[in-house]
Amino acid sequence: MRLQLFLVLVVLTCVLSKPLKKNEEQKKLLLVSFDGFRWDYDQDVDTPHLDQLVVDGVKAKYITPPMLTMTSPSHFTTITGRWVEDHEVVHNMMFNVTTNQKLPHKETMKRSEWWDNGVLPLWITAQNQGLKTASFHYPGGGATYRGQAVNRVLVEEHGFPDDNETEWRLNIDMVMSWFSEEDFHLVTLYYGEPDNVGHAKGPDHPDRIKIIQQIDRTIGYLREAIEYHNLTDSLNVIITSDHGMTTIKKRPQVDEIILNKYLNLLKLASFEILDYGGFGILTPRTGKEQEVIDALSKAPNLTVYRKDEIPESFHLGKSERLPPVVVMADLGFNLNSRLIVYVNKGDHGFHNGEMDMKTIFRAFGPSFKRNFVSEPFDSIHIYPLMCKLLQVEPAPHNGSLAVTEDMLWSRGESAGVSITLLLLLSMLSVS
Ligand SMILES: [Zn+2]
Repeated sequence: MRLQLFLVLVVLTCVLSKPLKKNEEQKKLLLVSFDGFRWDYDQDVDTPHLDQLVVDGVKAKYITPPMLTMTSPSHFTTITGRWVEDHEVVHNMMFNVTTNQKLPHKETMKRSEWWDNGVLPLWITAQNQGLKTASFHYPGGGATYRGQAVNRVLVEEHGFPDDNETEWRLNIDMVMSWFSEEDFHLVTLYYGEPDNVGHAKGPDHPDRIKIIQQIDRTIGYLREAIEYHNLTDSLNVIITSDHGMTTIKKRPQVDEIILNKYLNLLKLASFEILDYGGFGILTPRTGKEQEVIDALSKAPNLTVYRKDEIPESFHLGKSERLPPVVVMADLGFNLNSRLIVYVNKGDHGFHNGEMDMKTIFRAFGPSFKRNFVSEPFDSIHIYPLMCKLLQVEPAPHNGSLAVTEDMLWSRGESAGVSITLLLLLSMLSVS
């Protein structure tokens, strides 16, 4: 018995005090984003691979994107850990209220003047600390920040097929080779689905179920690829999204919003982006601000805000770039300026407190606990978690590691150590 106890203590000491070399500690991180993946999209579909992830890793019940629940603003909050009012990517479209220039979402991807507003995304911060990073179609990855580019960048081109499953797998193969053959530490990988299907068909359409099954197969493929490339012990993976999706209400169910019924837009506004889901912006002509506010206040199913009166909890009002008037429609109502031209059956851009705007968070890999269900949290907290996983000193941010660190094995603790301890304890009790 004494000898056994002695042996147990020797083994325990070895296990717990085994020094970790720096390169053993340095894990890699893959951040995958499926655009517009509503938090509950997997609940009415058979998703064996997503289900297995719950057993093998971490699932949050849901996460809350920042206000604005739009692709570029929300993705940039995830990769910077900053609120939209701080990073200033205040819309999917790039705009200039003076020149009236407006650029559609995909055309903004390489426009550094839209993205680079003083806040550094994780790619650049990690590179400045000696890591190698890449962005595969992730919004903001194609810009330069204080003149610095991401080490490797693929930017999604206009007309890129968002739903080609073969291509999805090829993208994974490419990213895996970056990790295993070229020693990249951080890669962000973006997929444009299920957002497109959600917009075109609506969240309740059978095609949305089909695309979720395709995503599930892709996650299965990702896990096989991780094993094939011998990355199981070194690669952590976070799978998340930017916002949810809701069904757009149409006549005769509701009276759709046409803003020009309530104010003469041409006469009263010098700039506007109004025909874009549930969120609109406009600049009143000189001296017309009160008239615009009064007129819009009479319109049903929307809330109008003066920029300086936006609730602090939105984390939007301090933005310099945002025009002076902001309009937010009630859930399911699209904003239309003059005509109903917007034919989307599903949309987003609504208040981030609405359950339909909530989105997903899953994670697995050597640093994450298994079978761990997290309470809901704000997506802004993903940034300090990623910094912790990469051992990167974070840039100033608005997140908190305390929100997510329970998902991680603490120092000295790991699945291997736990199993060893259990074995040793059972040896002790047998003797
Ligand atoms: Zn969208």
